[in-house]
Amino acid sequence: MTAARLDGRAMAAELRASLAGEVAGLRGRGVVPTLAVVVLGDDPAARSYVRGIERAAAAVEVDCRVQRLDEGAATDTLAATLDALSADPAVHGIIVQSPLPPGIDAATISARVAVEKDVDGLNPTSAGRLLVGLPAYPPATAAAVMEILRRAGTPLRGTRAAVIGRSAVVGKPTALLLLREDATVTLCHSRTADLPAVAREADVLVVAVGRARFVDAAFVKPGATVIDVGINATEGGIVGDVDAESVSTVAGALTPVPGGVGPLTNVMLLRNTLDAAKAASRR
Ligand code: NAP
Repeated sequence: MTAARLDGRAMAAELRASLAGEVAGLRGRGVVPTLAVVVLGDDPAARSYVRGIERAAAAVEVDCRVQRLDEGAATDTLAATLDALSADPAVHGIIVQSPLPPGIDAATISARVAVEKDVDGLNPTSAGRLLVGLPAYPPATAAAVMEILRRAGTPLRGTRAAVIGRSAVVGKPTALLLLREDATVTLCHSRTADLPAVAREADVLVVAVGRARFVDAAFVKPGATVIDVGINATEGGIVGDVDAESVSTVAGALTPVPGGVGPLTNVMLLRNTLDAAKAASRR
């Protein structure tokens, strides 16, 4: 079997086109959807992350305000910046560059993003709301995984899904979103016994481990849909957490890396920002 390629770039382009139409409508009513990006310091990885968001925002005419603070800024300074953005009616979405530098109290910071502007699901209140089934913006990467499955027409209700990786930003919210779609979900991690056998039960397998080419054909049920969230820099370039060559002999469908989940992630941030702008304009 050669797995079908789930083309995240093409899906992102389609979604951008529909978002651009919605943004134009909002702008016509005097609402300029605006995303604030708070960045500490100026390291190359952060710069490229922010450039990616700025490019994606420009493509759909969402305003992107980048607020740079000194690398050595204190938790209080960052918290005050987030308070000001949370109170600013012209800002609809707020994200903070991650990971935060070691000197910053991440728990304090994540709680300072107003929930109604928390377009990357950073605030623990957003995570709690997602857990109990109240409206909340999920982290953009988890939203991107679900958008790919939706656009690919992958059945979820009543199917078995497994997520490998239990981080707060990817694995856990993805498991909750799959559960919301009535999949029967297994959340796996580094202590899961006989992981390949557990993963092989899954009709939908989401891999967010952070280890290059970790999942091979032995983890995959024949015909399963495999979503590779991983981004790993290797000497040969960026690779995923899935060994694509091996897995595509067994899977029914697979996201490539690069060109799968990554391109949709920024677009989901903008989707969430647009929804936040619409909600604000109704208040
Ligand atoms: P993370 O916080 O490091 O979490 C990794 C998870 O993988 C942990 O839950 C860990 O289990 C589990 N794990 C590690 N080794 C394992 C093993 N041998 N067997 C089973 N599970 C194992 O990483 P993350 O932030 O979730 O990111 C995961 C991957 O997604 C990375 O490659 C990252 O670059 C990528 N990513 C991509 C996007 C995107 O937009 N496409 C966004 C964010 C992240 P324990 O909890 O037991 O330690």
